[in-house]
Amino acid sequence: MTPILTYSEDGELACELVAAAREISPSAEVAAVVLGDGDVSSLSESGCDVVCRVAGAAPVPEVAASAVAEVARQRATRMVLVGSTKDGKEVAGRLSVLLGCPAATECSRVGLESGRLRVERMAFGGRVSTVASMPGDSFVVALRPRAYARLGGAAKAGVTEVVVPAARRSVSVESVAGQPPSALDLTRADRIVSVGRGLKKKEDLELIRSLAGAMDASIGCSRPLSADLGWLGEESHIGLTGIQVKPKLYLAVGISGQLQHLAGIRDAGVVVAINNDKTAPIFSSCDYGVVGDLYQVVPELVAQLSAAKGREKGY
Ligand SMILES: Cc1cc2nc3c(=O)[nH]c(=O)nc-3n(C[C@H](O)[C@H](O)[C@H](O)COP(=O)(O)OP(=O)(O)OC[C@H]3O[C@@H](n4cnc5c(N)ncnc54)[C@H](O)[C@@H]3O)c2cc1C
Repeated sequence: MTPILTYSEDGELACELVAAAREISPSAEVAAVVLGDGDVSSLSESGCDVVCRVAGAAPVPEVAASAVAEVARQRATRMVLVGSTKDGKEVAGRLSVLLGCPAATECSRVGLESGRLRVERMAFGGRVSTVASMPGDSFVVALRPRAYARLGGAAKAGVTEVVVPAARRSVSVESVAGQPPSALDLTRADRIVSVGRGLKKKEDLELIRSLAGAMDASIGCSRPLSADLGWLGEESHIGLTGIQVKPKLYLAVGISGQLQHLAGIRDAGVVVAINNDKTAPIFSSCDYGVVGDLYQVVPELVAQLSAAKGREKGY
């Protein structure tokens, strides 16, 4: 079997891709690509055989795809796993063209069956999970965050510097700025308080922040709050066209529960909803529901949680 190449701009997801590659073929060489100043140290302990560092390559899709394709050519592999993040899906599409092979995005599982690559991915807004079989031995698969757990106790892999020709770019990168930590944490958060159009004004986000604080939770939202109103950043929007999350607890506040939103929380553990309309669709998709006005329920919840925390600390 040819080597398997992995790449993600997200350090934790990059390690999860290595675990997926190992599962596809325990004996194939797994080479993990890191661009520019990416985290080499964590990746080298993820279970890969070698880390290929491409110095000077910015982690933007156009540059990343070109660099990863070049590493694939140099290492004579046409099997590439990337992360199914917003940027990763663009990288997957570009790699598919550059390497001339099929690509599948939003995958939750990947494996070989009778010599053919088999991927599981969601379709119809997350309503169904489909299984697709990819022909040939060349492919690009984009895997969702937390679909695989990173391997523990792996030996440290060596790092090799790879020189790739400068990509012809239609976009030039002036600077790369990090996202706020809360945004980056959302796909990995164990608890999320998510807010929707039930909130009347931007200032009322303070109410949601105090609830999230009392629950040690991260804050997400439905699309209208970020895309239409701009009350929260684009990276906070959960759903079909946003991010998919996998928390142990998801609390939806003033969210109706449209299909496009639910597509982002299908892997959530316990889902709780607060909504003043007992016929809201979210009540058909949650484990616990509170029919009530969020402006009454949320402050009460914050008070109860704070009191419980106080009791724990013996106040
Ligand atoms: C192609 C496409 C892609 C999309 N992708 C996404 C996506 O990725 N993510 C996403 O979220 N949406 C997405 N949408 C939009 C989606 O269809 C819904 O419009 C959106 O999810 C609704 O957001 P909401 O639940 O916050 O608002 P609404 O549907 O307006 O619901 C607000 C809810 O708040 C409740 N409420 C009102 N006042 C209170 C109160 N005082 N207390 C308690 N509850 C109250 C109401 O009963 C209602 O159920 C997409 C749409 C399209 C067409």
